[in-house]
Amino acid sequence: MALRLPPLPALRDFIHMYRLRAKKILSQNYLMDMNITRKIAKQAKVKENDWVVEIGPGPGGITRAILEAGASRLDVVEIDNRFIPPLQHLAEAAGSRMFIHHEDALRTEIGDIWKNEPNRPSSVDWHSPNLPAMHVIGNLPFNIASPLIIKYLRDMSYQRGIWQYGRVPLTLTFQLEVAKRLCSPIACSCFVPRPQVDVGVVRFVPRKTPLVKTSFEVLEKLCRQVFHYRQKYVEKGLKTLYPPELENELADELFKKCRVDPTTTSIRLGIEQFADLAEGYNEQCIRYPGLFLYDYTNKQHNLENLSKEPNALPPPVPV
Ligand code: SAM
Repeated sequence: MALRLPPLPALRDFIHMYRLRAKKILSQNYLMDMNITRKIAKQAKVKENDWVVEIGPGPGGITRAILEAGASRLDVVEIDNRFIPPLQHLAEAAGSRMFIHHEDALRTEIGDIWKNEPNRPSSVDWHSPNLPAMHVIGNLPFNIASPLIIKYLRDMSYQRGIWQYGRVPLTLTFQLEVAKRLCSPIACSCFVPRPQVDVGVVRFVPRKTPLVKTSFEVLEKLCRQVFHYRQKYVEKGLKTLYPPELENELADELFKKCRVDPTTTSIRLGIEQFADLAEGYNEQCIRYPGLFLYDYTNKQHNLENLSKEPNALPPPVPV
């Protein structure tokens, strides 16, 4: 059942009332159409009594839709002080359901927000088919989207932060093109000509068992190096994982083992192939202590000095 908010000025009038204009530096792009913001709350599957964290609420279009959907607690994290007065206006209308955190989302531990709230929805075992009655939602600014998503995916993989409560779904809006790529089984750039910029909503639900068995860090390093030269053969990026004296031997071994064509491009690889490459690379890191820490841009790096570093290789993620 949708919960009515007391009468509020229309979103457009809000923008005028509080003299809000989109700031380029914060990549602001407001959603002004409540039909769209309601669809986003619906796609996120926000239900009555759910608890929600919203990142970058801006003038509050999605915020209103989340409150209307019946969330019993909504915490918003907004960096731009110009939005605080309109958000306070909304918080007053929402009774005691809404809390404003005037902070940088990149520095906010969203898992701590409800730490001392005894009434928060129950945690749900990671392997249960059920999800906790909690959500993270955001129409993220493009400049923070990548670092924030990487932070959240890492927290998901370690079941920490807000993911200590279970498989909390994360719903984010992206440019349609980016959203389609995220949902495509292969990361290929199959959308030519580029579609018009439009909004796509992606709901990330953590898997019960991770598809990739290595630590998040091993997968992240592999992806970072492989995507370094996205238009070139995949072997060019992959070889940067190894010191020059081993690069041919170890890259060759990995391609053969994973049956990946070294002359394909990184954007044509599927998730299973990345999983195989990450697991193969992890094995090589065990065989060559110090390999995981190797950074090809650091001329001082060699396996002999790196192998003396303690805890060189992060352990696999919990299963
Ligand atoms: N959610 C609103 C909407 O859909 O209309 C606004 C979306 S706008 C693309 C992004 C919002 O994120 C802006 O309000 C901006 O101020 C905020 N923002 C930018 N960087 C941020 C950060 N580091 N932490 C928190 N909020 C941020």
